[in-house]
Amino acid sequence: MIKVTRFKLYPNKEVEDKLFSNLRICSFVYNWCLEHNIWNDSVLPQLKEVYPDIKEVHSIVLQNVVHQIRDNIKALSELKKKGKRVGRLRHKSRHSMIFEQTGFKIDEDILKLSKIGAIPIVLSRPIKGEIKQIIIKHNKTNDWFASVVSETTAINDWFAFRRTYLLPKQVRAVGIDLNVSNFSTDSDGLVIEHPKNVKKAEKRLKRQQRKLSRKVKGSHNRKKQRRVVAKVHEKVENRRSDFLHKISRYYVDNYDLIASEGLSIAGMVHSGNSGLSKAILDASWGKFNSYVQYKAENAGKYAVSVIAKGTTQDCCICGRTVPKDLKDRTHSCPYCGSVMPRDYNSSMNIRRRGIEKVGWGTPEPCFLDMGMGKLNTLAEIRTSILDVNNPEQVFISEPRISRL
Ligand SMILES: [Zn+2]
Repeated sequence: MIKVTRFKLYPNKEVEDKLFSNLRICSFVYNWCLEHNIWNDSVLPQLKEVYPDIKEVHSIVLQNVVHQIRDNIKALSELKKKGKRVGRLRHKSRHSMIFEQTGFKIDEDILKLSKIGAIPIVLSRPIKGEIKQIIIKHNKTNDWFASVVSETTAINDWFAFRRTYLLPKQVRAVGIDLNVSNFSTDSDGLVIEHPKNVKKAEKRLKRQQRKLSRKVKGSHNRKKQRRVVAKVHEKVENRRSDFLHKISRYYVDNYDLIASEGLSIAGMVHSGNSGLSKAILDASWGKFNSYVQYKAENAGKYAVSVIAKGTTQDCCICGRTVPKDLKDRTHSCPYCGSVMPRDYNSSMNIRRRGIEKVGWGTPEPCFLDMGMGKLNTLAEIRTSILDVNNPEQVFISEPRISRL
């Protein structure tokens, strides 16, 4: 898909002079080639020797001027073939120039053009995909514009990538990303928060443990306090298990294939800052995975753990690698233009890997069946907070399938 987006430019006097002189040179080259009936860009090196001023313009821009003549002549002869009366190409002054592949760079709000300079640009909209061309235009009202031509491969790649994991209609598969900011995010857009009542109980546990440490060793009070701590500890564990049982039950009841990451909890806990480690521990992902596992086995369903490496970095739409660190909460793919929450992207990758692992999938690309008819709806995925005490709240748009 080719996209053209126009942005206004604000060159200063010095740069504007250069832009004008570039356009003058382009006009000169255009007219010279027309006059000599030459429309092959191999003429340019010779031309540069005779007219050294031409070197002030980026060579790709000059090549495009010559190509323009060729295209115009082609268009004329096409018209002629159709029996239309056509005249000749006329000399004209050029008001635009094309930078293709090279000679330009957009850095924040600055457009840098080779042999011209830096021009403030107002990026009123995000540029999607890979930039192929930048066309600089000067219009009659004396304004400068840049038309940015970019190519997004989203649709094509979407088909190709999806091909491997399309499922029989009645089978529901889900990928679950277990993460730090929330307990989990799944590939249907359901976000489950860290359970509040567990956090509360943990706070109480900490308080009681501090009290215990202050009691004199061997004292009666210390013994008493130890019992209090044990009780609160039990409460924390109960609440946590209760939460994990409910969540795992929800997934096993609603899906035929549940994929999650095979986490190395120990490894993650010891890396990074301590606040993060605590949250990971709280989440009890390992326990969750094992609950899902045995519940799925009992229900005759599949629970698979997939390799975690790359699930965050890979783009779930086009498959290319988009590096990000922990603080990047959004997956924004420069190759295909897809934008979505980081954890959602991971969950989609986990889902795909899960399906690949069990070897499911059909070859027909029919992404409409996936409930993702419009690509841009990916950016506005449904998110909902699951209330574990009121599981009916959870949205499930498709009918529930209990067995394969
Ligand atoms: Zn992508």
